[in-house]
Amino acid sequence: MRKLFTPDWYIQTYQNLDLSRLKQLGIRVLVCDIDNTLVAHDEAIPDDSVVAFVQKVKQSGLQMVLVSNNVKERVDTFAASLDVATYPFARKPLKKTYVKMIKDMNCTPKQVAVLGDQLLTDMLGANRIGCYTILTQPVAQRDLRCTKVNRFFENIVFSVLKAQGKLRKGEFNE
Ligand SMILES: [Mg+2]
Repeated sequence: MRKLFTPDWYIQTYQNLDLSRLKQLGIRVLVCDIDNTLVAHDEAIPDDSVVAFVQKVKQSGLQMVLVSNNVKERVDTFAASLDVATYPFARKPLKKTYVKMIKDMNCTPKQVAVLGDQLLTDMLGANRIGCYTILTQPVAQRDLRCTKVNRFFENIVFSVLKAQGKLRKGEFNE
């Protein structure tokens, strides 16, 4: 069966992401979720660590893209100083925004790595179209109200994946 929720890679934080490994895999575009992947949902702008990370990604030769389910205003404010392509209101796990982004970037799904903190949105959406998927532990414990509902179901999925020996929460393979 094709994997739906299981990430290809599970890391503790975006700061541990090995960009050279992504390049070896033929990745050209790094897609990042924002809320609880780079900052907590109530942090409006990137901190110094995120700014440094974005610089590092660009310097590595990868293209950086932000794909978020949050509203345009939030995404625009967050990305204002970063100079990266943005796709707000993405409706992950639906495929439409990822498909548009891949077309815009003129690449194939296999050349795209998607980094996110949620199995039910980030990982499911990206796995469905065949991108390389990277799960990160959430930056903060606090979630948006809609995300709290997702987390309830996410914990069920984590239990199933654990029983299948596919993924254990907090057991990173970075
Ligand atoms: Mg998120």
